[in-house]
Amino acid sequence: MASPPLNVAIIGAGLSGLSLALALHQQGISCVLYERNSAPLNIGGAVMLSPNALKVLEALLVYSRIKTKGYNFETLEYRDVDGRLLEVYEFGGEEKYGYKALRIYRTALIEELMVMLREKGVNIVFGKKFVKVLEETDEGVSWEFADGTRETAGLLVGTDGIHSAVRKYLYPDLKPTFAGGMGVTAAVPTEQLKLPLGYHIPVTISTPHGSFVIAPQEFNGLEVLIGKQKRVAKGHDRAGWDAISADKEALVKFLQQDTEHFPELVQNAVSSIPHGKINVWPFYIVPKLERWTSEKRRVIILGDGAHAIPPSAGQGINQAFEDIYIFALLLGQVGRVDMQDALKFWQEYRQQRIEKVMELNAQIEFRRMTEEEKAKMPAGSMKEIELSWLYKPNLKAEVDSWIAARTKLTA
Ligand SMILES: Cc1cc2nc3c(=O)[nH]c(=O)nc-3n(C[C@H](O)[C@H](O)[C@H](O)COP(=O)(O)OP(=O)(O)OC[C@H]3O[C@@H](n4cnc5c(N)ncnc54)[C@H](O)[C@@H]3O)c2cc1C
Repeated sequence: MASPPLNVAIIGAGLSGLSLALALHQQGISCVLYERNSAPLNIGGAVMLSPNALKVLEALLVYSRIKTKGYNFETLEYRDVDGRLLEVYEFGGEEKYGYKALRIYRTALIEELMVMLREKGVNIVFGKKFVKVLEETDEGVSWEFADGTRETAGLLVGTDGIHSAVRKYLYPDLKPTFAGGMGVTAAVPTEQLKLPLGYHIPVTISTPHGSFVIAPQEFNGLEVLIGKQKRVAKGHDRAGWDAISADKEALVKFLQQDTEHFPELVQNAVSSIPHGKINVWPFYIVPKLERWTSEKRRVIILGDGAHAIPPSAGQGINQAFEDIYIFALLLGQVGRVDMQDALKFWQEYRQQRIEKVMELNAQIEFRRMTEEEKAKMPAGSMKEIELSWLYKPNLKAEVDSWIAARTKLTA
């Protein structure tokens, strides 16, 4: 049976990397984080955390520290232009799923994770850009940084995002697929909307001219995210997306376009948009990968690098939290179980959940289609949405029962 890895190197101090470091620390596994930037990357805006991720963050003792730093809510309503309720989508539910959903600024979450890692003495090295793996053996791996320095570790985990450099070691030619669109979002004061009394937000207002999203953020809900999706014919390189993000006037114009076809509250929402609060989210996906680990299983990818998914169900980062938690629980048991087996179980379990999220995304996308588009879809495309499998997994129990079965088998 393989002996436990002595140390883990994590490439990328985004939400996956930071939370993974915390989860490994909880399992008594030492790790070092390497981040290419001189500070954590702030992609901007807020993220929506659903009960499956919040349960992970509770197990990592993060939840109680962030709960009051964002907006807690349960449902998103879909309404038509006349305010008629089309559907209610659950993002969380205290009674049903154990947690309300939490919309929190990415920076607030990153900051808290950083504070916790500092408290535990976990080392984060900034300004270290991973370039390539040099050698992988049965015992460990060595790699090089852009400044020419080299390092070794028992395991190398790439949490370096959708355009992962670590992934190149596993899939040298793979490029994420552009999904044909981008989200353009901004944040404005809630009072600017002049919401009719009792009007529920978050809301997605669907019209034949597209959909407009409004979602409160900040603990007291005094600010809202507003946003629309834009179809884009082809993807761009980093410089191209940076140029699109930098052209704030064009983005404001896009958000203000066609608002005469929307209710007055949308016109109010876009009446004044601070440039500093506009974000662009180009939609890329990583196709289903056969392996998230190298053959010797000393190089691993997770989070967006392994399975970036479309944004429809808001599960991108939530799925990454599931990855890191199960991964750390399993790694903590290496010695009792074989690492190769544990990582195989990890990927299979995680992959089947990602596939179910993809099916859910398709259902949500179907609901956003115009009547004309829906008519072109095969009969039976619309299915009822049920979310308990997504929001109420018992990840720890899944791992425990797998370990119990394995240790019985090998006893
Ligand atoms: C505007 C926007 C809004 C979003 N909103 C939501 C949302 O509401 N809900 C949701 O679930 N998801 C959302 N997403 C998606 C979500 O942000 C991603 O799923 C999530 O950030 C993935 O986390 P990650 O840690 O795997 O990767 P990333 O967040 O991309 O972090 C990767 C880190 O690795 C570092 N890095 C990269 N290359 C190297 C290298 N070679 N060497 C060293 N370090 C490196 C990067 O600098 C970065 O710090 C949003 C994305 C965007 C862009």
